Amino acid sequence: MQSNWKLFSIFGIDIELHITFILFILLFVFLDVDFLLILLLLFTSITLHELSHSLVAKHNGIKVKRIVLLPIGGMAAMDEAQLKPYPEFKMAIAGPLFNYVLCIAIALAVQALNLPFMVSWSDWNLVLEGTLSVPLATLLVSSTFWLNWLLGTFNLFLPAIPLDGGRVFRSALAMVTDYVNATRIATTVSTVISLFLFLYSLITFNIILLIIAVFVYFGAVSELDYALSNKLLAHFPLSKLIRKRYLVLPPETKLDTALAEMIASHTLVIFTKTGKSMELVSLYDIRRVPKSKWKATPLSSIARKLRPVRPSDPIPKVLRLMAKSGVEALPVRGKRGLAGVIFRDDISHVFEVLKMSNT
Ligand SMILES: [Zn+2]
Repeated sequence: MQSNWKLFSIFGIDIELHITFILFILLFVFLDVDFLLILLLLFTSITLHELSHSLVAKHNGIKVKRIVLLPIGGMAAMDEAQLKPYPEFKMAIAGPLFNYVLCIAIALAVQALNLPFMVSWSDWNLVLEGTLSVPLATLLVSSTFWLNWLLGTFNLFLPAIPLDGGRVFRSALAMVTDYVNATRIATTVSTVISLFLFLYSLITFNIILLIIAVFVYFGAVSELDYALSNKLLAHFPLSKLIRKRYLVLPPETKLDTALAEMIASHTLVIFTKTGKSMELVSLYDIRRVPKSKWKATPLSSIARKLRPVRPSDPIPKVLRLMAKSGVEALPVRGKRGLAGVIFRDDISHVFEVLKMSNT
């Protein structure tokens, strides 16, 4: 099932709503119209926050494909080549900085234009709780200010990776120590913070905080893995992981026949050949098709035309290509044509072993 819903495109970046955001909106539609307006403000603020990150990223030569909006914040999907510390610092700080600039602009506009505004944070909270009622204009101006103040502060001053504050912290550390070391320190700090957030969310029954705690914990762990894999796998020869056992079958072969041949020949991957072009089907692709449809589905309907990698390619680059095309295996082309297949699982195994000997 598709989990993102595309809204529009700006600067060549797709803005998409995650399905949980839509459910979140629906929940509030039934509760309160004023709340829906605040939610729209939140959604706009998050989008502009993420766009600020993305524009700085683009300025530093990083491709940004889309921004996905979740109820707890946004995520910009970038071409994940490892960043240098200074560009990462600028990129991370750009989002919260935008929120603060907007807050200052609102404060100045309130002064200059005499806009209706609630200065106190506790008053704003009383309005949200429904115990204090104010004119709509006051609600909108104040909500824009406080939502952006919240987004900026929460993202910048919590030094927990993968939040912005954590990235600012890590990139600042990486300017004085090596990248993996900096990530290790930032991850430890993030784990401690996520533990406190977790306990605090339990005491206060705050579900959003609980989600953030879990998000920070797993985000920090995978951030360290990512930094480590970039370092440890950079010089591991890809050629050692190439699987040379594969099948070549006609594209019209049905999945049940193909699977039987895979089992008989102990292979995990099939190439289909039409003329000069080769397409790839792995066991993972077959597994995604319901078993009841195997008899009727030809290989050609799930085969993927993938650009082959070379045996000399660095493994981190290959992993990024796999993530980009959403596949678990890629063909490898040697000097004399097809050299075999590289599997993400095989790379993961090597990484686990290297990690053990490195920690
Ligand atoms: Zn951000």
